[in-house]
Amino acid sequence: ASRGEDFLQRRRRWSVAATIRNFVGGRYAEDTAAGFDKVSPVDGTVTARVQEAGQSLVDRAVSAARKALHGPWGDTSVQERARLLRRIADRIDERADELLAAEVSDTGKPVSLAKELDIARAAGNFRAFADVVAATGLDSYLTEFPGGRALNYAVRKPLGVVAVIVPWNLPLLLLTWKVAPALASGNTVVVKPSELTPAGATLLAEILTEAGVPDGVYNVVHGFGPGSAGEALTSHPGVDGITFTGESSTGSAIMRAAAPRVRPVSFELGGKNAALVFADADLGKTVDGLARSVFTNTGQVCLCTERVYVQREVFDEVASGLAERAAALRPGRPEDPATTTGPLISLEHREKVLSYLKLAEQDGAKVVAGGGIPAMGPELDGGAWIEPTLWTGLDHSSRVVREEVFGPVAALIPFDTEEEAVTLANDTDYGLAAAVWTTNLERGHRVAQRMNVGMAWVNTWFLRDLRSPFGGVGLSGIGREGGTHSLDFYTEPTNVCVQL
Ligand code: NAD
Repeated sequence: ASRGEDFLQRRRRWSVAATIRNFVGGRYAEDTAAGFDKVSPVDGTVTARVQEAGQSLVDRAVSAARKALHGPWGDTSVQERARLLRRIADRIDERADELLAAEVSDTGKPVSLAKELDIARAAGNFRAFADVVAATGLDSYLTEFPGGRALNYAVRKPLGVVAVIVPWNLPLLLLTWKVAPALASGNTVVVKPSELTPAGATLLAEILTEAGVPDGVYNVVHGFGPGSAGEALTSHPGVDGITFTGESSTGSAIMRAAAPRVRPVSFELGGKNAALVFADADLGKTVDGLARSVFTNTGQVCLCTERVYVQREVFDEVASGLAERAAALRPGRPEDPATTTGPLISLEHREKVLSYLKLAEQDGAKVVAGGGIPAMGPELDGGAWIEPTLWTGLDHSSRVVREEVFGPVAALIPFDTEEEAVTLANDTDYGLAAAVWTTNLERGHRVAQRMNVGMAWVNTWFLRDLRSPFGGVGLSGIGREGGTHSLDFYTEPTNVCVQL
């Protein structure tokens, strides 16, 4: 049997839960009055019924988290929590196939991608933060003043009850990226996964409980944003901090919800990321890298490139190379080993992407790849399929070049000088990531450092060291997570000064 058939059999054996429940205080909550269907982006069929949490269930989740903070969890040592995180990672590895089924069922992404990226990183996040928290010491200073000395040292305390709001694009990766350091730091969490991807966060509750996470430390509430579980949670007076990944406009709404009680927020938001290709770049490697950075996860990664600036001498070569790569992508069922690209997350999101495809044509773009909906056949035509699409000839002022599309699309724009490339790349309200392609060492460093972004890559993209700072500037976010930067958000220091 092929790998795809194996997966199908395993998936049939375990299947994804038909009802996806809220998880509060260490157990699944009773049925709620409200609920909604989870629809497969692959073929439009309903895959599960999701129980929607209202205000009272969110209240209970926050109370359970508060109670757990004052229980035995509050007395755990850093070493104990680091060991627990490692046990969670091992348990994720053991139940990886079930998590894979949940993630693939929710997102429709190819099994191979979910396995290598999402599931591997879920376990990796817990291991990384076990290492980080175990290795991080206290800030301390020996202070000398006329006539004496004092010892200053800062102890880290958990923030408290942390609300974790995450999107649908890399559901388990982005969730564990926040939950791992939050738990490592001794917090309790109430998680609100995206309404479009409820399964993985729910299964993770079982995994954490099996690994020994005490009741109430990890709670999950399902629902939408405004008027639903998201708003109830972010405006809840019992929440001590909010960590959010998603759209910039949602970040703005959440910031307003956090304002009355001045609670800290950590925001990883949208992007309109640039790639800068210089004529001296290794073009084979560059086109490979660009293809990854534009099309990975059907362009639905916050770090994906949507603006490609190419030095004029190599513009045609890069454009045709990338167009060939776009045309070679194979959409299809996630479990089919021949599939190299999945659908968008939903038909609603496809409408948004299609509106930009239309706008690009109105703005005079030349479509050099894709440009519409692929014919997938009767079984899959109900899914949210889209063609990987590339444009040339767009003006820098076009909304297509300025706004985040969040699909497998990019505008290619020529430049002449390094100075011009830097100016164009930085001419945006966003500031998440950039990639510089060049074989000139000095130029690589110089241009990367001038990028007004949180992360700049040189001759690569999305290569991560989980200890390094991750986040964005401008509309792309507030604060940094990663390594000790995460610990800084998920803890509050108390400085103690002792006169000696
Ligand atoms: P979204 O903002 O629509 O939703 C994210 C989450 O917020 C969901 O769980 C949603 O239910 C919830 N939500 C929505 N409105 C809310 C409100 N008023 N109060 C509380 N919660 C609310 O984002 P999305 O469409 O799920 O995700 C795609 C976006 O996420 C893109 O803009 C992408 O760039 C961004 N993203 C950023 C990063 C990063 O690290 N910077 C990573 C991944 C995705």
